[in-house]
Order: sequence, then C-alpha cells, then structure tokens
Amino acid sequence: MNNKNSEKLKKIKNKLIAKKKLIISQLQKFAKKNKKIKDDFRTEFPDIGDHQDENADEVSEYENKLSVEHELENELKNIEGALKKTSENTYDICSACGEKINPKRLEVMPEATLCVKCSERKK
Ligand SMILES: [Zn+2]
Repeated sequence: MNNKNSEKLKKIKNKLIAKKKLIISQLQKFAKKNKKIKDDFRTEFPDIGDHQDENADEVSEYENKLSVEHELENELKNIEGALKKTSENTYDICSACGEKINPKRLEVMPEATLCVKCSERKK
C-alpha cells in the first residue's frame, strides 16, 4: 500500500472512531453498558409507579428508547466491522461479494461494509 492510501485510511479510521465515541455517548444517556457483552447496551426499564396512566407513558417511552438503542447498536456494530476492515486492509472490499465498494459510498457512509448491491439485497 502506498503512502497516499495509508494517509487516507488513517483519516477514515479517525472518522470512524469519532463516530463510535459519539454513538456510545448517546447510548450512555439512557442505557447501561452490558459488561459481559462488548458494545452491548441495555435500556433501563423505568420504575413502575402506582398510576395506570403514568405506567403507559413510561412503557411507551421505554419502547421508544429501545428502538433507538437498537438502531445505535447496529450502527456501532457496522463501525466496528469497518474499523476491523481498515486494519485488515480490506476496507474498500465488500464483506459479502468481495467486489470493491464505490469510494463515493464510503465517503458518505464510512461505516459501510457492503457494496450498494449487497446492502440493497439485505433489505
Ligand atoms: Zn457486495
């Protein structure tokens, strides 16, 4: 690999690490880190009060948080995967089909580990 490429990769890595930190801090606002599983967070279930109305609110709030939590965790997983690929020098290679990922796609979505075709197929 030439110097220009490794410079670029370093920048991508920094971008990914910054994004990862941001997501973790977002998660920590409402979820407890699971110490047993790396990068897994648990949304805390609210204290259930005595009032039926309040409970319904708390439960729906909990459900909202849970879906945000899963979204953020998913993103975190993608970032981890992309980071792993940067250290394996396979960063721009699609994890599913082995084709090169469009550099433009990686520019807007540095955590992408799949090419456009494969990620469309996954949906
Ligand atoms: Zn692919």
